[in-house]
Amino acid sequence: MQTIYDLTLKQMEEMLGTLGQKPYRAKQLYTWLYRKRAQSFDEMSDLPAALIAQLKERYVISPLKLVTKQVAKDLTAKYLFELTDGMTIETVLMHFNFGESVCVSSQVGCNMACTFCASGLLKKQRDLTAGEMTGQIMYIQRELDQEEKRVDNVVIMGTGEPFDNFDNVMDFCAVINSDHGLAIGARHLTISTCGIVPKIREFASRHLQYNLAISLHAPTDELRRKLMPVDRAYPLDELMQALREYSEGNHRRLTFEYILLKGVNDTDAHAVKLADLIRGMNAYVNLIPYNEVDENGYRKTDAKGALHFYDVLMKHGVKATLRTTHGDDIDAACGQLRAKHERSRTA
Ligand code: SAH
Repeated sequence: MQTIYDLTLKQMEEMLGTLGQKPYRAKQLYTWLYRKRAQSFDEMSDLPAALIAQLKERYVISPLKLVTKQVAKDLTAKYLFELTDGMTIETVLMHFNFGESVCVSSQVGCNMACTFCASGLLKKQRDLTAGEMTGQIMYIQRELDQEEKRVDNVVIMGTGEPFDNFDNVMDFCAVINSDHGLAIGARHLTISTCGIVPKIREFASRHLQYNLAISLHAPTDELRRKLMPVDRAYPLDELMQALREYSEGNHRRLTFEYILLKGVNDTDAHAVKLADLIRGMNAYVNLIPYNEVDENGYRKTDAKGALHFYDVLMKHGVKATLRTTHGDDIDAACGQLRAKHERSRTA
């Protein structure tokens, strides 16, 4: 059965219209779902009983069941959820000094096949609906309620390629951004893409305020192609052109994500080439320590090497940040926990 979290406010109004209800009921429902965190329709005491009965016939509220939760020493928590059809997804909660940040999955598995990434170990089985993404936030928000905390920040950086599930991801963002719901600010919401150019252009045309991050990981097509097959469909010159247009047209700063892989993309020459690619754009590079995955041979660049790469970038006129690792004592790399779970299921 469909989850009611799937519906944007507008879709909720339309759905209620088909049930002969006035549009204001949509806001009432949003309040119950997202402000009061209702877990059943029966709690919704100011809705007519007949409407509650109709909603119960058509929708569930939470689409997720917790399978396991791992908590690291730094309190990063990784959740494995089961969906109503039995498939599993991962979500991560990280604690920063600026607040609570949730990393959401957008698909079951992923078809992008980046060679360093554990998510691609399991091919895409299906897209997540908007409500299955919202459900990840709501589950964790209900936990945080007990500590009087809120989800401050959302990054769509879990398993899946958000721009390969564009419409559902846009609906999800609209749901959690809605003033009548969780009201997570657009600037506190980041979509990370491996670089699907037509969707970057479509995103640009909507003039939304969400942050856009691009997984770059290599400064040349020759290398990027080896790491990320998507580069064959959308090479760097096309990608950078679309990004320049987005950034200038929308007055938005871009984030380039760059995982440092020992001996693969972390030499001075790579840093200089990367700087040449980005210099002059309203952008910065987020250098990410690689989370090693058993199934491939990649190793992480050590801290000294990472700092040096950072220095070279800065010296060549490009702003960068060095991301700190979270939860390295649990299976925190994208797709790791799920890959392990699925293996143990089929073993
Ligand atoms: N498909 C989207 C979002 C999911 S991946 C994208 O490609 O951006 C989120 C980020 O984590 C990407 O930058 C991805 O390249 C990176 N990533 C994947 N596996 C990783 C690993 N083992 N260690 C560190 N970062 C990883």
